[in-house]
Amino acid sequence: MLMGKVEKGVTCSVKGCEESADRSMSLVKARMSQDLDFDISKKRVYLCRVHYKDWKKSSKTDRETERMRWD
Ligand SMILES: [Zn+2]
Repeated sequence: MLMGKVEKGVTCSVKGCEESADRSMSLVKARMSQDLDFDISKKRVYLCRVHYKDWKKSSKTDRETERMRWD
């Protein structure tokens, strides 16, 4: 499983964000989005609800999936 539930007390890895993390994913997967500026010092990235939505919107996989679906 690449994504999972996150323990309480873990905060979002996006720089400047203090929200508690809702999702975690591997750094490789997280970097599919070029729009988010997160802490890359760890192998795992934690995202709050809002930033997870942003990640989904801006990640390449999502764009490619949409292209395949609509073009
Ligand atoms: Zn966040």
